[in-house]
Amino acid sequence: MITKIIKLSEKSFKIDEIKIAVETIINGGLVAFPTETVYGLGANAFNIEAVEKIYEVKGRPKDNPFIVHIADKKDVSKLASEIPVKAERLMKKFWPGPLTLIFKKSKVVPDVATAGLDTVAIRMPDNKIASALIKESKVPIAAPSANLAGKPSPTSAEHVINDLYGKIDVIIDSGKTRIGVESTVLDLTTHPPTLLRPGGITLEELESVLGKIKLHPVVKAEREIRKITAKSPGMKYRHYAPEADLIVVEGKERAVRRKIQELVNEYKSEKKKVGIITISKHDYDSDVIKFAGKDLTTIAKNLFRIFREFDKERVNVIIAEGVKTSGMGLAIMNRLKKASGYNVIKA
Ligand code: AMP
Ligand code: MG
Repeated sequence: MITKIIKLSEKSFKIDEIKIAVETIINGGLVAFPTETVYGLGANAFNIEAVEKIYEVKGRPKDNPFIVHIADKKDVSKLASEIPVKAERLMKKFWPGPLTLIFKKSKVVPDVATAGLDTVAIRMPDNKIASALIKESKVPIAAPSANLAGKPSPTSAEHVINDLYGKIDVIIDSGKTRIGVESTVLDLTTHPPTLLRPGGITLEELESVLGKIKLHPVVKAEREIRKITAKSPGMKYRHYAPEADLIVVEGKERAVRRKIQELVNEYKSEKKKVGIITISKHDYDSDVIKFAGKDLTTIAKNLFRIFREFDKERVNVIIAEGVKTSGMGLAIMNRLKKASGYNVIKA
């Protein structure tokens, strides 16, 4: 298959320029498109064959459903059978934005888009290209992240090209994404609501609107939880992962630095190429050191790109300094721990 790449600027694109992408969605094809979080791989949510193709090209397990993307809040009433008051408050405050809400699904949503669950995940992305694509196609767009299953989510079109070129119809390239980690997933079918995946909207922000929220155990990613029913997908699988082994070291700054240098020395004596992800700009004696940023927002934006860069540079082992788990830190640590396969050392 020949993949068409369309380069666009979110600020100044014309509707004409996304015409091919719109036709592709309408005709049952697959389009990778930018959102404010990561790139998505989209299909018409009502077209069963098109949605099935997403699983195929990603190599994604069939019990891990997608998020249905909309461009108008009113569309929730078509896709969900019930809209709790809490959902209305959240939609008002955070949509469009990086918050996915889980509702009881209505009959119009095909089972394939929700992996057979009786719930549906809905989000309204805060990206002009994404919302124009949805509006012009006149259908909701089912989309997971536009990477091969298990790989880090794509935060630029280059990452999508590396994973999916030749396998999908269209890739819309509008450069780097603004947030860099996926949306927060909140289940509103439980009381209190349950945080299933930390992401672009923080737990603190959600609690300021809703009061207490339950954390699903997988959010803190303290350990691997194997036998989870696909209540929240994404929980069951090793995810976001670079090729190299990843180790996360958490604790007080000085202890972390000491531990990491110790580990580096060990691996180097085994002739392994070691890469370090630092948030403190500490000058380790190591092959490659990458500075992810000082503040949590910047670290979130850079993390997946750094994973992919280390793979290109053929690093064997990546060691990452842990971050504090407040604000965006909860999402960052969740991705780091999951990507490491729960290989976490307390210094
Ligand atoms: P991805 O876009 O690849 O990050 O994956 C989509 C995410 O949406 C999954 O990891 C799930 O956490 C979430 N999701 C989609 N549908 C549902 C659902 N019906 N119930 C709970 N979570 C869902
Ligand atoms: Mg994904």
